[in-house]
Amino acid sequence: MSERNTSLDERVALVTGGARGIGRAIAFRLAEAGAKVGIVDLAETGAETAREIEQATGRTATFVRADISKEAEARSAVAEVESVLGPVDILVNNAGITRDGLVLVMDETDWDAVLSVNLKGAFIMSKAVLRGMIKRRRGSIINISSVVGRRGNAGQVNYSAAKAGLIGLTKSLAREVGSRNVRVNAVAPGYIETEMTAALPEPARKALIDQIPLGRIGTPDAVADAVAFLAADTASFITGAVLAVDGGLGI
Ligand code: NAD
Repeated sequence: MSERNTSLDERVALVTGGARGIGRAIAFRLAEAGAKVGIVDLAETGAETAREIEQATGRTATFVRADISKEAEARSAVAEVESVLGPVDILVNNAGITRDGLVLVMDETDWDAVLSVNLKGAFIMSKAVLRGMIKRRRGSIINISSVVGRRGNAGQVNYSAAKAGLIGLTKSLAREVGSRNVRVNAVAPGYIETEMTAALPEPARKALIDQIPLGRIGTPDAVADAVAFLAADTASFITGAVLAVDGGLGI
């Protein structure tokens, strides 16, 4: 594989929810591959993440605080990122939340909040960057779904519906914009080492690991590597795909 294929030099990437966790790892990896990176997040710590990326990679990184589930805010965040970095070539819809509970005790607000950020947010952000991508005949959108969007999970009807919805959105949008050379793919992580999984008591952690064919929890970097692959020309003939990064959990 030539170096040129994996390079994101001169590309502009926007990562939602890039302040921490998996989104942070994605933003770092895309910058390491040469992209200028915009982080759009509700958390002000995104500014610190952007500074760290600039120091570590020497690439330009910028932060805009916005709620990606609100169309007007999301649109002005995209405009702000573009005014600093230039037109967005790569959009990673990573921002997500959970409001878990068994269905009989889950209320409407838990349903609405999760669908609104995880699914509607991706629709809003994609729409905000698409006109430019279509005009330039170049773009890559990557939606962060989840293994539970493919398999379901007790206690997560809202979250798994949103993540399954993202797969439908990915495939439909891939069909809509493929002729304009805009690619749309999804990554479906399994259990990933984050603050949440680190806090699990040992027996729960072991039970979880026992279900994973590779016998371990994944890292945010493993998800970031998959995103970088899909973003670059290495994946130039791949669209509408759902790439599982789950150690085999979803088999
Ligand atoms: P996280 O909670 O650590 O980070 C999510 C980020 O999104 C935060 O910085 C948060 O501020 C931001 N965010 C939340 N709502 C927002 C909004 N309305 N507007 C803008 N930003 C918002 O989560 P994570 O574990 O890093 O997960 C990242 C993505 O990966 C999510 O979509 C999640 O569903 C998915 N995922 C995670 C795992 C896992 O094991 N952690 C597994 C599968 C999929």
